[in-house]
Amino acid sequence: MPTDDVKKGLDTLRKLGVIEIVLSGGNPLLRDDIDEIIEYASRFFVTTVYDNGSMAVEKIDALRNADFVAISLDTLDEKSADYMKGVPGAWKKAMNAIETLHGEGLSVGVSPTISRFNLHEIVDFTKFFTDRGVPVWYCLYWYDYPTENQLFEIGKKTDEFGITDGKAMAMVCDKLIEMKRERQGVLITDKTLVALKQLFLNGQRTWRCQALKGFFMVDHLGRVAGCHCNEPVASVFELPEVWDSPRFESLRKKYNECNRCAYLCYIFYSLHTNVSGNLEIIRDQWRNAKSLFTKTQKNLSET
Ligand code: SF4
Repeated sequence: MPTDDVKKGLDTLRKLGVIEIVLSGGNPLLRDDIDEIIEYASRFFVTTVYDNGSMAVEKIDALRNADFVAISLDTLDEKSADYMKGVPGAWKKAMNAIETLHGEGLSVGVSPTISRFNLHEIVDFTKFFTDRGVPVWYCLYWYDYPTENQLFEIGKKTDEFGITDGKAMAMVCDKLIEMKRERQGVLITDKTLVALKQLFLNGQRTWRCQALKGFFMVDHLGRVAGCHCNEPVASVFELPEVWDSPRFESLRKKYNECNRCAYLCYIFYSLHTNVSGNLEIIRDQWRNAKSLFTKTQKNLSET
């Protein structure tokens, strides 16, 4: 989509009452107009931008307007990080990006994907960064079961990364809950950690998926899907007409029954849907929630 259409799409989302935008990829920083998009989005939404650490320093001026920049990095071990990313020098670049953005006063966090590969290290990893004032925002290794027409594919099944030790995962969740009591910057709610524990200990899903209600995906062509694993169901510009339609209601029911994935962002948004869910985040993460609270207030008063 050209820049103007992206802005029109953002206007539509704003009118719909959307509070938060996460720009991820691929790598959104590859767009030449990303500075304009971030600046525009951050006027109205809590705006998070993901980078794998390869471009953040180069695009630092564009990122100054973001509410939160998440650099993906999975381990403190240089060799393992380069292996996981498949790019020599990836670790150094990501560490440099975190240090540079943090030093320049940007709101930067580090985003590890918790997997079998780094499970044993997550607690120390969290300590390392939060000791330095850099918050940690978690993803969870998962993979797609590709279906025809899905919006796009991200995860691939790799035995090396799949978590098989449920008890070890539950212990990490307990430890993170404990750490949240004693330090700032552990950016995951208790509710999410408890849900993860249940999932890994006994396979129980304590949430119902809220795709197309608490969250949805918009791709680079402006196509909207409940999540990336499902087919596009509208264009972003059509959303105001179709949002309350019987077709969308029936799609929501279908997604509500779905248990195909455990991507952590979808679990998080499913657990914290609606205004009450947002308030729960603020209560859980009150020290980190100023920006969310201010923009939520603003958007609610305008819609
Ligand atoms: S559980 Fe929800 S987010 Fe996951 S594939 Fe199903 S509809 Fe999509």
